[in-house]
Amino acid sequence: MFKERIVVIEDDIQIQNFMVYTLENAGFEAKGVSSGKEGIAEMLENNADLLLLDLGLPDIDGMEVLHNIRKWSDVPIIIVSARDQDKEKAQALDDGADDYLTKPFSATELMARIRLALRHYYRMSHDNEPIMPDETVYINGKLKLDNGLHIAYKDDKEIHLTPLEYQLLLLFMQNPGKVLTYKTILRKIWGDGYGEDTQVLRSVMAATRRKIEDNPAKPCFIKTEIGIGYRMVEQSDEQDAQ
Ligand code: CA
Repeated sequence: MFKERIVVIEDDIQIQNFMVYTLENAGFEAKGVSSGKEGIAEMLENNADLLLLDLGLPDIDGMEVLHNIRKWSDVPIIIVSARDQDKEKAQALDDGADDYLTKPFSATELMARIRLALRHYYRMSHDNEPIMPDETVYINGKLKLDNGLHIAYKDDKEIHLTPLEYQLLLLFMQNPGKVLTYKTILRKIWGDGYGEDTQVLRSVMAATRRKIEDNPAKPCFIKTEIGIGYRMVEQSDEQDAQ
């Protein structure tokens, strides 16, 4: 039987064992290594379908491992790091990591992030071929965005968005569950010149939330990832039914 292979680069042996055990229990093949150099060698020799990468490693920095592997592989990479490393997490996402997990995390959270990253990866490798206008209808719970008609709906009622608000919502509907950093969002919507000007993004986000959220002070669609960016939460079926 085909098993997807996951490499875990983590020097804390307890956490490494926990991840390998959880992955094997979920039906993956898992290989744990304790240093950056071993991790790169393992990826070069045997490759993987996904990589879990700790940022604080004993020999070389996790960011260096990320840069090295991204030069030759588009394998999904999930960063595993401590809570106080927000800046590094944002940088890792900008430099090609797909997501991050903050320690401590549960087995459920680990598996959710892995399934999400693999799903994105397979979807992207299919979408890569012809460049067609995107006329997809995106649905997330009560929100719907018909990109052929350029109309957004909440509870089947049209929401009136400005072009910038529309572009912002579209970007999140295209990337459900994924953390988008301020830098990524600014680059995709405003272009390269805006760099780190997050104030403009915050104000468009606030306006968009007023239109899509029941309570903009407690958003349930687009959550803030403090110091990093925003994430669109995938609404579950139970929530849809309410
Ligand atoms: Ca570590």
